[in-house]
Amino acid sequence: LVSLRDIHLSFGSNEVLKGIDIDIQRGQAVSIIGPSGSGKSTILRCITGLIRPQSGQIRVGATQVDQLHTEAELIALRQRVGFVFQQYNLFPHLTVLQNLTLAPIRVLGLDRQRAGRLARDLLERVRLAHKADAYPGELSGGQQQRVAIARALAMRPELILFDEVTSALDPETVGEVLTVIRELTQDGMTCVLVTHEMRFAEEISDEVYFTEAGNIVEHGPASRIFHHPANPRTRIFLERSL
Ligand code: ATP
Ligand code: MG
Repeated sequence: LVSLRDIHLSFGSNEVLKGIDIDIQRGQAVSIIGPSGSGKSTILRCITGLIRPQSGQIRVGATQVDQLHTEAELIALRQRVGFVFQQYNLFPHLTVLQNLTLAPIRVLGLDRQRAGRLARDLLERVRLAHKADAYPGELSGGQQQRVAIARALAMRPELILFDEVTSALDPETVGEVLTVIRELTQDGMTCVLVTHEMRFAEEISDEVYFTEAGNIVEHGPASRIFHHPANPRTRIFLERSL
């Protein structure tokens, strides 16, 4: 579903991605782990077309992301690729339900009833049906993050990227967000996860990529990466993180 080929990206003189290759099959859960500053978020931003690498190919389905030029093409891509990150960025002046129906009505052209039904189904799925009429400020961090995930799902994306979605949460609410992500992967949603939750990455991932200083140092099935890392750098990182 997604492929990155030999991606090189620099910010000024700082080479941040030094030839990244990643393949994600439909229905897979893929985790990207690695030290701070190693390029994980930059990789996700490349996949959504938010930033453009200097060289290399990025494909999402049949779309050659590195070839997109118009704003309309990029907006169309972002409907297909959900993106959830650390800050939930919900609209504070809209209710939870309105947060979920806004883009489907405006962008997908759903009528209000249909968008509302879809939103209620999604709230059910993230166990927040009872919060439909609440405002984001009335919710806990974990609840807001689950609304953010439901909002991404409301656009019916082909895949969802999660960038450190639990890093800003209180420990007691991390679990409820991870449960939602786990269920999504079990339902066959293609998920790409950047996370410091190593146990969770090991549990849910089909494939794990380890990045360091802009390179993929190694990748493979979660069980192998976590239990028999081939590269000493991966081993040291995991010893410190687990
Ligand atoms: P973390 O685990 O801390 O989130 P990361 O692996 O996600 O780290 P990135 O955010 O991808 O790392 O950053 C990789 C490098 O690119 C860092 O050196 C960072 O300073 C740099 N960088 C990221 N975004 C920009 C930007 N917009 N302008 C300049 N440099 C940037
Ligand atoms: Mg990051």
